Amino acid sequence: MGAGIAGLAAAYELSRTAPPGTEILVLEGSRRVGGKLAVSEIAGVPLDEGAEAALARVPEVIDLMTDLGLGADIVYPATTSASIAVQGILRPVPAGTLLGVPADLDALRASSLLSGDGFAAVAHDLSTPGSPVTEDVSVGTLIGDRLGPELLARLVEPLLGGVYAGRTELLSVQATMPALAVQLRRHGSVIEAARAARSDTPAAEGPVFATLRGGLARLALTLAEQPGITVRTETPVRELTRTSTGFRLVVGPAPQPIVVEADAVVLAVPANKAEPLLAAVAPRAAVELAGIAVASMAVVTLAVPRQAFPPGSGLLVAGGGAVKAVTFSSQKWAHLDTGEHVFIRASIGRRGEEHVLHRADDELINVAVAELGELVGLSGQPVDARVSRWGGGLPQYDVGHVDRVRRILAAVAEVRGLVVCGAAYDGVGVAACIRGAQQAAQEIEDQLRRSAHAAAAAVQGRGQ
Ligand SMILES: Cc1cc2nc3c(=O)[nH]c(=O)nc-3n(C[C@H](O)[C@H](O)[C@H](O)COP(=O)(O)OP(=O)(O)OC[C@H]3O[C@@H](n4cnc5c(N)ncnc54)[C@H](O)[C@@H]3O)c2cc1C
Repeated sequence: MGAGIAGLAAAYELSRTAPPGTEILVLEGSRRVGGKLAVSEIAGVPLDEGAEAALARVPEVIDLMTDLGLGADIVYPATTSASIAVQGILRPVPAGTLLGVPADLDALRASSLLSGDGFAAVAHDLSTPGSPVTEDVSVGTLIGDRLGPELLARLVEPLLGGVYAGRTELLSVQATMPALAVQLRRHGSVIEAARAARSDTPAAEGPVFATLRGGLARLALTLAEQPGITVRTETPVRELTRTSTGFRLVVGPAPQPIVVEADAVVLAVPANKAEPLLAAVAPRAAVELAGIAVASMAVVTLAVPRQAFPPGSGLLVAGGGAVKAVTFSSQKWAHLDTGEHVFIRASIGRRGEEHVLHRADDELINVAVAELGELVGLSGQPVDARVSRWGGGLPQYDVGHVDRVRRILAAVAEVRGLVVCGAAYDGVGVAACIRGAQQAAQEIEDQLRRSAHAAAAAVQGRGQ
C-alpha cells in the first residue's frame, strides 16, 4: 500500500514476477499517485514539485525508466557544479569530498570556502589523528570535534541539509555516510577514512543524476498505468490484521469502510503512517517506527524573466535565512531552457524550523524572491510562482537509525507475507526507494511461490 515511488516500483516488480493469476492492488490514501513525486505546470511548462532528479548511477533507475518505454525522455543535467553561499559570498563546492568530508585537502584549500583557521582545524586531523570510531555518532559531533566547527557549518551541514532537511547534530554517521563509517573503524584520521572510503568505491562512469522530460514524476505516473496493476486512490488503509491465510485490511473513508483480503502486503508508506498499521501485526516494529522523526519543507518554484544566474546547477546556503538551497532549473536542465522565462526553485525550511513554513503561500513567495535577490541577484517579479508544501516530507536518519531499521526488518520478517519499503528505511533518495522496493517485491514473490508449492504439495499429498 502507498502509491509513492516505492509502492509503485514494488507493484511493477510483482506484476512481472509474481505467479500467474496474482492480483496486484495498490491502495493509496490521497487523491493522486506519486507521493513525493508530483508534477504540475508553471508558466505552461511541467515542472516537478518534489523530487526532480534520481541517482543515475544506481542501475535500477535507468533500467526501470527504459523498461517502461521512457528511455527517449531520459535527460541528464547540463551542469552539476554547485556553490555554497557563506555570509552572502558564493564559493564553489570543493571537489573530492564525501558529503562534505574532505579527502582532498588541496581541492578544499582551492575552494577558499574556509578561513585560514578553519582550514588549519581540518588539517590538524591528519597530523593528530583521533581514535577509530566504532559506535554510531552524530555527524555534528564527529565533524565538529575532529575537523572543526567551520567545515561543519560551511560544508557538511548545508550538504546534509540538502538531502535530509536535517541537522547534523542529530543525523547518524552510520546511516548518512555508511562508507565513511566502515573506514572510521580502521582509521584514526577522519580524512584518511574519507580517502579510503572514496578509493573503495569504484570510479563510476556517466552522469550522476537523471530526470525525465515532463518531470521525474512521470516515472510514478507511468508505473501506475502498467497492465496487471490496479491503483485505487482516495483509499487510505486504516487497519491491518492477520487472518488464517493472510491479511485483512480495512480501507476507504471512515464512514464507508471496505474490507480487502490479501495474501501478502507491501507496506510502502511513511514511518508515521506505517506505525499505527503495524501495531496489531508487528507491534515491535511499530514501536521502533515511532522513533523515526521527520522534517517538513516547502519548495517555491518561480518562473522569472530570462536572466543569467551564477554558473552551475544551484547553490546551498550555509546558515542564513529561510532559503536553504536553490536550483537554477533552466541551467541544470537544458530542456527547461527554451522559452522566454527561466525557472528557479528554492527549498525552504528544515527540521526544527517549522515556524518558517507557517506563512501563507504569497508570503513564502515574497520571502523567496527577496532572499534570491540577495543571494543570486534575481531581478524582476516572477511571471508565475508555485508553493509545494511537504509536511513531514523527509524521514530523519538519526543516530541509531541503522540498528533501528535492523530491528524493524527483523520484527516484520516474523510476519509471513508482510514486507516494508520506502524512504524510512535504507535511503531517502528515489533510487534507494526503487532498489528497496524491488527487493521487497522479490521477497514477497519468493514467499508466494513457496506457499503455492506447499499448497500444491498438500493437494498432491491428499490425492495419494
Ligand atoms: C521536496 C522534496 C524533494 C526531494 N528531492 C529529491 C530528489 O531530487 N532526488 C531524490 O532522489 N529524492 C528526493 N527526495 C526524496 C524522495 O522524493 C522521497 O524520499 C521518495 O520519493 C519517497 O518515496 P516513498 O514511496 O517511500 O514515499 P512517499 O512518496 O511518501 O509515498 C507514500 C505514499 O503512501 C501514501 N499513504 C500514506 N499513508 C497511507 C495509508 N494509510 N494508506 C494508503 N496510502 C497511504 C501517501 O499518500 C503517499 O502517496 C525529495 C523529497 C522531498 C520531500
